[in-house]
Amino acid sequence: MLWIIHAAGPALIPSLIGFSVVMILLVNLLIPVVILPLFFTFSDLEDGELKTAIFAESEKTGIPVSQIKVIDGSKRSSHSNAFVTGFGSFRKVVLFDTLIKSHTQDQILAVVNHELGHVAHYHILKNAVMSVVHLTIMFALFSLCLNNKELLLSFGINHSSAFMYLLSFMTIYEPFNFPMQFFNMYIIRRAEYEADAYAVKYNHAQGLKSGLIILFKHNKG
Ligand SMILES: [Zn+2]
Repeated sequence: MLWIIHAAGPALIPSLIGFSVVMILLVNLLIPVVILPLFFTFSDLEDGELKTAIFAESEKTGIPVSQIKVIDGSKRSSHSNAFVTGFGSFRKVVLFDTLIKSHTQDQILAVVNHELGHVAHYHILKNAVMSVVHLTIMFALFSLCLNNKELLLSFGINHSSAFMYLLSFMTIYEPFNFPMQFFNMYIIRRAEYEADAYAVKYNHAQGLKSGLIILFKHNKG
């Protein structure tokens, strides 16, 4: 980070955007491939009605899925959930074993459809773009603060150190933080609404409704 700010010179903002893109890509790629397997055991969903039905769902929505995995979420928490990871022919549907145990097939399919809705609406991509914008703004503000002795003086600090620059950056950033968090929350809520509407479009209203009630009861504890 600091090296980029020193080395980039006038190309600072494009360099920072590049750095943010690489960071976000790494996080998005590493979480499912490296981080999650550290905490959970992945296994293939056994052949059967549920597996066939999920592949049928993927075909119906036109979102290709190559694998369906089950992870042992029950060991860690009672959160029953599912997610979709990867893209194109690497796309995987991942189900927590707790979701399978405590839900009917219709309810599981509604949850899977909701997750496919996130894919259909490019929520992961949109999220990544937003994070890049956010990180770039933060880095740009930080680069404005770094080695700006006048800024430190304006805060009444007359010796410069990395920590003091960080502190002055955080003070300047503070007013951006609250609207940023608010905006984030709004985006997340809207994405969930869109994914629910997607599942409703594919006739999963009933499964979604009854499934959500079970999820809510489980996650409350
Ligand atoms: Zn969702």
